[in-house]
Amino acid sequence: MRSEPTVRPLAQPAKADLRAWLAALAQRGDLAVAHEGVPLADALAAIAKRTERDKAVLFPRPGGHAVPVVANLFTRRAWVADSLGIDEHDLLPRFLAAAADPLPCVEVTGAGAQEVVHTDVDLLKLLPIPKHNELDSGPYITAGLMIARNPRTGAQNVSIHRCQISGPNRIGVLLLPRHTRAYYRMAAEAGTALEIAIVIGVHPALLLASQAIAALDVDEMEIAGALLGRPVEVVKCRTNAVRVPADAEIVLEGRILPGVREPEGPFGEFPQYYGPRALREVIEIDAVTHRRHPIFHTIVGGSFEHLVLGGVPREATLLQHLKRSFPNVLDVRLTTGGTCRYHLAVKIDKLSPGEPKNIIMCAFGGHYDIKQVIVVDKDVDISVPEQIEWAVATRFQADRDMVLVAGAQGSKLDPSSDEGMSAKLGLDATAPLTDDPMAFRRIHVMGEEAVDLDTALVKDPNAAFARIIAQMP
Ligand code: MN
Repeated sequence: MRSEPTVRPLAQPAKADLRAWLAALAQRGDLAVAHEGVPLADALAAIAKRTERDKAVLFPRPGGHAVPVVANLFTRRAWVADSLGIDEHDLLPRFLAAAADPLPCVEVTGAGAQEVVHTDVDLLKLLPIPKHNELDSGPYITAGLMIARNPRTGAQNVSIHRCQISGPNRIGVLLLPRHTRAYYRMAAEAGTALEIAIVIGVHPALLLASQAIAALDVDEMEIAGALLGRPVEVVKCRTNAVRVPADAEIVLEGRILPGVREPEGPFGEFPQYYGPRALREVIEIDAVTHRRHPIFHTIVGGSFEHLVLGGVPREATLLQHLKRSFPNVLDVRLTTGGTCRYHLAVKIDKLSPGEPKNIIMCAFGGHYDIKQVIVVDKDVDISVPEQIEWAVATRFQADRDMVLVAGAQGSKLDPSSDEGMSAKLGLDATAPLTDDPMAFRRIHVMGEEAVDLDTALVKDPNAAFARIIAQMP
């Protein structure tokens, strides 16, 4: 049994909450605001998709609902780093350090998240829950942290699951075979429901930490605390023993029912295809608590926000896995075109011939989702897809540099796989180690990086152009 966290009163409002991040986005011009009343079915997701590459969007009075919705909290990898106050280059090392040295939560009494309490629950009346992709079965809660308590040890787990609204206080949920399902099994074996909370509207650090590949009974909120550099303040739910972030916007308190299965899906997922309809677990919601004027966060299924959220923690784990055998691996990237799951780019400081193929084989073993690995040299920027393609175009020969493995385990969500049986492709796109300094020397313009366009270019090019033309004889 783990010791209970210390209890102390909430001294002051926490700073690293959703609103602090939205304020930062607004201040630098990265928060768009839609007109009032955008319909919750399709139209809201349509606008969010159109801005997914460059803007977060706030939707006031969506579908006439009093609670606003926000989408695209991080449309780019760099924003995830921004939200943690770090440089993008430090993102993976920082995430690994936080996962290795979590910071315990601090329990408080009295929380913003519980300013308003509803025990008569009608989810679609209380909350503005959008329907996202065309063939989704209906409205889904997509950005809810599912916090579950191990019924034997009291340890908490945090993860994100798609949550279909199946009735006024009923949710259909997809539980993949990970930690929430393990806790659910323990409860079901004892014939009891698993107490959970679904938390909506939190700082990006909490969303990111929820995706950490941690051991059973590691509380991902403690990883979030380490990411933020200060403990996450938690409060006990009103109707069960689950502890939730005290400054969350909205909390749904409920139970995953033992032995109950109902249809859930289809739902648009990260590979840009629909996850099928099937019989799945069911949650009954006992209470909804929220701030006096809450904000509802939604993630459009398969959007950049969805991909980046899953990508960064996986990259961190794969980097650690590769570095264990190959300290000269410098960086990795799960490309967005590869759905931030299937295609991995690896940047190395190449030390010996043949080594990239060993690194490719090691990467295949890092996660069964990995389907294609491209290894490049340290002069390639792996955050730019064109540069990875350039390395393949000029440093790779298929008869010499390709690794092909048939019939391995892959992702069941890849529709080209044979029920999850998948081929693996590795490309060594590194230059040979050669004594000829010019053979693979990239062209480069001296001083390009140092140019400051604000000072190098005139402010009013139209007027300048007209003047130049007028002065011509
Ligand atoms: Mn976990």
